Amino acid sequence: MGSEAGGPRTTAPGQQLRALFYVLPPGESSFRTVEEVPDYVEKVRASIPFFVAFIALEFAVSWIQKHKLSGRINDGICSLSLDILSVELISYIYVWNNYRLFELPWDSPWTWYLTLLGVDFPYYWFHRISHEVNILWAAHQVHHSSEDYNLLTALRQSVLQRYTSWIFNVPMPLFIPPSVFAVHLQFNLLYQFWIYTEVVTNLGHHRVHHGRNPYCIDKNYGGTLIIWDRIFGTCEAEDAKVIYGLTHPVNSFDPIMLQLCPLAHIWNTFWATPGFCNKLSVIFKGPGWGPGKPRLGLPEEIPEIIGKEVPFNPSVLVYLNCYAVVHFAVIMDLYTELLATETVSNLYETASHANKLLISRPKAGILEIIRCLVFMDVYKLGYFRSQFSSLVLNIKYFVLYLYCTSV
Ligand SMILES: [Zn+2]
Ligand SMILES: [Zn+2]
Repeated sequence: MGSEAGGPRTTAPGQQLRALFYVLPPGESSFRTVEEVPDYVEKVRASIPFFVAFIALEFAVSWIQKHKLSGRINDGICSLSLDILSVELISYIYVWNNYRLFELPWDSPWTWYLTLLGVDFPYYWFHRISHEVNILWAAHQVHHSSEDYNLLTALRQSVLQRYTSWIFNVPMPLFIPPSVFAVHLQFNLLYQFWIYTEVVTNLGHHRVHHGRNPYCIDKNYGGTLIIWDRIFGTCEAEDAKVIYGLTHPVNSFDPIMLQLCPLAHIWNTFWATPGFCNKLSVIFKGPGWGPGKPRLGLPEEIPEIIGKEVPFNPSVLVYLNCYAVVHFAVIMDLYTELLATETVSNLYETASHANKLLISRPKAGILEIIRCLVFMDVYKLGYFRSQFSSLVLNIKYFVLYLYCTSV
């Protein structure tokens, strides 16, 4: 493998593919320093067509098997709008630099396998606590808000959750080198991408976790290994048809609303609940808790599934769907630049109304015009230089013109 001096190692396409399935053995994925660790996630997610190819393959197989697509434009775009970033490595390196007790050898297969368990075990508990503590659930429920289950759902991640998960990895930097942790953190994440599909029948473990059927609630938290669910009594096999999403659906594709709505709910419940201890319980007990109920609420209060549940799917005109897809292509194309220019990123992304258009919210068209004009000004100032975006923006404005003339 070629490498820049001290920089990240390059990876062959075959290695990136195998990273997705956690089958890069220690000999191929052990590095002396964090700087040498390849960015497997970014390579698979952005620059390498595997990601797109897998999603296209899932759609094709679903069409052949069931004569229906595995996802919808509105739900898929919403999932992608809630994208991922990690602060875990920064905190890990800080603890390693300041508090490590001893150093396990970075090039030993034993360290490699221990880290596999060391990343997956805390993940189980972090995930479980994210379901059992209301304030953490407020962040994690974003991931569960999709009423579809496909590869796009895997990317539906909470912004707030990034800032809490690192605590669970704290024991490991006391003895495991950051370079080994950085590899497994990525493998653990990548492995959890491809299991999000209905087209492979024996992958029911995480499907059950996303169900809102009473038998699915608070089950199957495991990330890579499912032994943790077996050991701690949260394992459930796929049985009746799984209906995906939240027990009380939010019925929105607005990414900001999906992130903040549950926090507003906790805020209101906190003030409406009498007694100091009860108020604390609203925050730290399960989302189904109420005064006089057990910590995780009453199972009989989980809404029954009758099998006729209809996902939130407001119908909009075909060209509005096209508009949303094109709009999203621009965001994806500009993603790196948007991240680099933080202010513009906030201005643009927080004001993103493609999802609102998809539910035909009144006045969304007017807001969209204002937003696009602001964005166009920023664009003209030279923040973005991509030719593709320039072309796509012109297409956008043509479609927008069609929209304006029809409202
Ligand atoms: Zn979950
Ligand atoms: Zn999930």
